[in-house]
Amino acid sequence: MIHIKTPEQIELMRHAGRISAKVLRKTGEMVRPGITTLELDRFAENLIRIEGARPAFLGYSGFKGSICASVNDQIVHGIPHKDVRLNEGDIISIDTGAVLEGWYGDNAATFAVGEISADAQRLLQVTECAMWAGIAAAMAGNRLGDIGHAVQTVSEDAGFGVVREYVGHGIGRHMHEDPNVPNFGRRGQGIKLKAGMVLAIEPMINMGDYTTRGPFEDGWIVYTADGSLSAHFERTVAVSVEGPPEILTKE
Ligand code: MG
Repeated sequence: MIHIKTPEQIELMRHAGRISAKVLRKTGEMVRPGITTLELDRFAENLIRIEGARPAFLGYSGFKGSICASVNDQIVHGIPHKDVRLNEGDIISIDTGAVLEGWYGDNAATFAVGEISADAQRLLQVTECAMWAGIAAAMAGNRLGDIGHAVQTVSEDAGFGVVREYVGHGIGRHMHEDPNVPNFGRRGQGIKLKAGMVLAIEPMINMGDYTTRGPFEDGWIVYTADGSLSAHFERTVAVSVEGPPEILTKE
């Protein structure tokens, strides 16, 4: 069931979104060669709590981090760890979520660790572009497939693979609500978008093939099947009465 949010509820989600965005930006600023993903996690958790919120991911189905930190060929759900130290040339996808007064914010971005290859740079740029294309399609009267189609077109035109098994989602009083928001699809297909729907739009794009492997014994971390790099960008947005959606995860 899809929960349409009232303007008052969207106002509350702006607060959770603002904190999520600030934590993502500031944690991203900490990314550098030599830092561990556990250090990034501690930094983010501390900031979330200073802001008066609580980490959305910590304890979610038993997840052990306050952020997801996915390095190189890890697509999503990387678990922060003291032994995972970033190296020059790596890319790291950081996903941060905050809960404030029961409302969730969720956003992600992939960051360069020092200097990265031109190919990796292009993957990051295309994935972010694909996210914005998907967001631009999230307009009242459009359909869910329009979002996926927009993301898929940008990504595949660049020669990259669109992950199928993991998708965006509705969000509100729960981190994951209906509907699922695939990053692939056909124009004009799927449910009709309505003002007050709040969606997390989050392309996960592989430099190579779209297929995945995992999660393995840890139950979480998902890798590209072919070992290629993967990037992930995400914003929480509210469908407006008219025009493009409002970005809720912004400062
Ligand atoms: Mg999400």
